[in-house]
Amino acid sequence: MAVEPMSLASQSEVMDTDDPKEEVSDYGDDVMVDGDDIIINGDELDQIFPPAKLDPPPTFLNGSKMQLDENDPIMLLRVFYQRLFPYKTYFQWLNYDTAPTKNFTNREFSFTLASDVYIRYNSFQDADELRKEINKLQPVKIDIGAIYTARPKDKKTIRPQAFQPVEKELVFDIDMTDYDEVRTCCSGGNICEKCWEFMTISIRIIDAALREDFGFSHLLWVYSGRRGVHCWVCDERARKLTNDSRKSIVQYLEVIKGGAQQAKKVKLPTILHPSLKRSLGILKEHFEGLVLNNQRVLDEPENWNKVLQIVPDHAIRETLDSKWQKSSRTNTAMLKWEDLKNEIGDGKGEVLVREIMFQYCYPRLDEKVTMQINHLLKSPFCVHPKTNRVCVPIDPARCKDFDPFKVPTLAQLNKEINEYNGGEKRIADYEKTSLKPYMKIFDDFVNGLMKESLQNKKNESAVSMEF
Ligand SMILES: [Zn+2]
Repeated sequence: MAVEPMSLASQSEVMDTDDPKEEVSDYGDDVMVDGDDIIINGDELDQIFPPAKLDPPPTFLNGSKMQLDENDPIMLLRVFYQRLFPYKTYFQWLNYDTAPTKNFTNREFSFTLASDVYIRYNSFQDADELRKEINKLQPVKIDIGAIYTARPKDKKTIRPQAFQPVEKELVFDIDMTDYDEVRTCCSGGNICEKCWEFMTISIRIIDAALREDFGFSHLLWVYSGRRGVHCWVCDERARKLTNDSRKSIVQYLEVIKGGAQQAKKVKLPTILHPSLKRSLGILKEHFEGLVLNNQRVLDEPENWNKVLQIVPDHAIRETLDSKWQKSSRTNTAMLKWEDLKNEIGDGKGEVLVREIMFQYCYPRLDEKVTMQINHLLKSPFCVHPKTNRVCVPIDPARCKDFDPFKVPTLAQLNKEINEYNGGEKRIADYEKTSLKPYMKIFDDFVNGLMKESLQNKKNESAVSMEF
């Protein structure tokens, strides 16, 4: 049958296709689809993939030791979707209730299949239907979209005006590739323990701003599986925000501005707004260790000149550069940083020192992801096809302890299930694995939402009793 590709206009609503860094094969942290990919609607699925052909013979799940190739990613993903993916809690999260509501039934899910086929506008009645479809299709990536005025799978049969996005979590995407101009250890899609601290700072700063400045409390932080983090703000007030309000929030949070050609990207007032003051406090805890000692931005002329470019006074730049050239390697980064602070002095100089710290450490947000209500974002509990690590939740209160290299891979999880020997007591498969602490974070988060939903219902019925 003919597969009708989506129009370019509707693609650009939700996809970032203008970033030359991104490639389709990279399965980055955001939705990206090459023009040549096949994009189909969810309602065409049964014709393209008859269910009978896709139902896997689950012979390897008969309870005995599995006869499967430990390195076969397709088999490992199958085990993950059958035995570990938290369908019920996941449903409760996106449904904001225990019985199905429009929050779930009118929610768009999109799937990327191993064949690079990209299926948009899937929607499901409940957790069970979602589970069956995921197990049938074995998507290599799941994206979550908006809640619409109608069921996304009915999109083709209804008038465009009757199919509008109405709600979605307020989301943030922070990607390490946006830190290439300030990190010296890695570039592109690579990360190491030395640069991950940039993500820790981002979580601390954005989490505090969202809670303290905006009063949000239901924040789900998730590791994107490779090189970044996502934040899902799930308070009802956040879900109902218009595109304009989302844009205002991004603008409020944005401090680093200007493209590659602009050396100085931060302009701070002399007296800091309380929010920036709080951010500065966090930056101070990390700056020396991360930027001076780990990233070593003052060790080599190539890197220290980037820092000096931020200083507007030409004479100061010259003085410091020649001093550092002479003292060369005997002078530590800490001493050079003191030199810089002394040279630019107090008053205005103090503002400049802060601006350098912000430019080197303050979060860099992918604003497009946040501003559009219908922008899709990769789902938690996806598995990154390159790292094979699960996109697990991160406890923001303990984000300093989060280590992306300790996040379990599919092969590790499969091994843990097989090697588990906990006696007769029946427990959920995830409890046999190192996924357990991450599931606990997710459970606690969703429990918080369920409690609030219950309380809201009680309040509503109390109000209706009064009349
Ligand atoms: Zn690194």
